[in-house]
Amino acid sequence: MSHKVLLDYGSGGRASHRLIRDLFLKHLHSPGLSRLDDAALIQDLSGPLAMSTDTFTIYPLFFPGGDIGSLAVHGTVNDVAMLGAVPKYLSCAFLLEEGLEMHELEKIVRSMALAANNCGVQVITGDTKVVPRGAADRIFINTTGIGRVIADPAPSGSSAEPGDAVLISGTMGDHGLAVLAHRQGMDFETAIISDSRPLNDLTVQLIREVGQIHVFRDPTRGGLATTLNEIALQSALEIIILEDRIPVSQEVQAGCSFLGLDPLYMANEGKFICILPEILADKALKVMRSHTAGKDAALIGHVQEGHRGRVVLRTSLGGQRLLDMLEGEQLPRIC
Ligand code: MG
Repeated sequence: MSHKVLLDYGSGGRASHRLIRDLFLKHLHSPGLSRLDDAALIQDLSGPLAMSTDTFTIYPLFFPGGDIGSLAVHGTVNDVAMLGAVPKYLSCAFLLEEGLEMHELEKIVRSMALAANNCGVQVITGDTKVVPRGAADRIFINTTGIGRVIADPAPSGSSAEPGDAVLISGTMGDHGLAVLAHRQGMDFETAIISDSRPLNDLTVQLIREVGQIHVFRDPTRGGLATTLNEIALQSALEIIILEDRIPVSQEVQAGCSFLGLDPLYMANEGKFICILPEILADKALKVMRSHTAGKDAALIGHVQEGHRGRVVLRTSLGGQRLLDMLEGEQLPRIC
């Protein structure tokens, strides 16, 4: 193979087949993918299923704590997990720019394989397109995930109830700030690392050991503030959040202050919000804190009747302010 991606590799002809065999199949082998049919055959999924798709355009491709490959796996696996499902299969489509270094592509595919393995999912179908130089920025990846829903009923942003507790699985803003700092070549004293990681192991454990999960939602783009607003709107309830309960690492706090950014609006790629009856909050926190994905979990607020669709932040000084939804794009190409 050439050391750069050529237009021929997306042709569907012999060059494409070489790329599939020598790169994609080499790393992402699974019984489904190896069949090389037009579609993957799924024989072992039944019952309510969750399916999610996401396209990843992150810049830079490699960042502290991950790369576009691992992110493309974690992002979709986590969205399927948020529906109370066990993610099982992924599809994976690559949009490549002519001239992309083959060793970078291989590094990304290897990282996807490792991430898929860690999440317990298999890539069973895929696609590759190559566009001429300048028509895309090196590589974009789309992944679609599917899994069986084991929570009954499935958690939903519209299922929060008055009196519910609002839990968060860990520190806020790590991914957004890590990517931004890396992009701008900023040197903070301590490296800030993306929190990109799978969440399905912990969400499944919560469903099995605690149950009655009303809402799971991962606060990715737009951060905690935007995601809580979505939930408040979907459930037509008010959410009250206590500022000093929200875990934010010292490094992220310092970096955000320096850049004039709010960690509550920064993207996360390895955290989730869990809303459930208050009486189960302690049990859920215990399960979360004993898992690496939830070691900094905290109870940050509650749901109540009141102004529908509103999120109120009670500050450490005793005041309160409305926590609005992010208006536009704070950081383009964050995922
Ligand atoms: Mg999500």
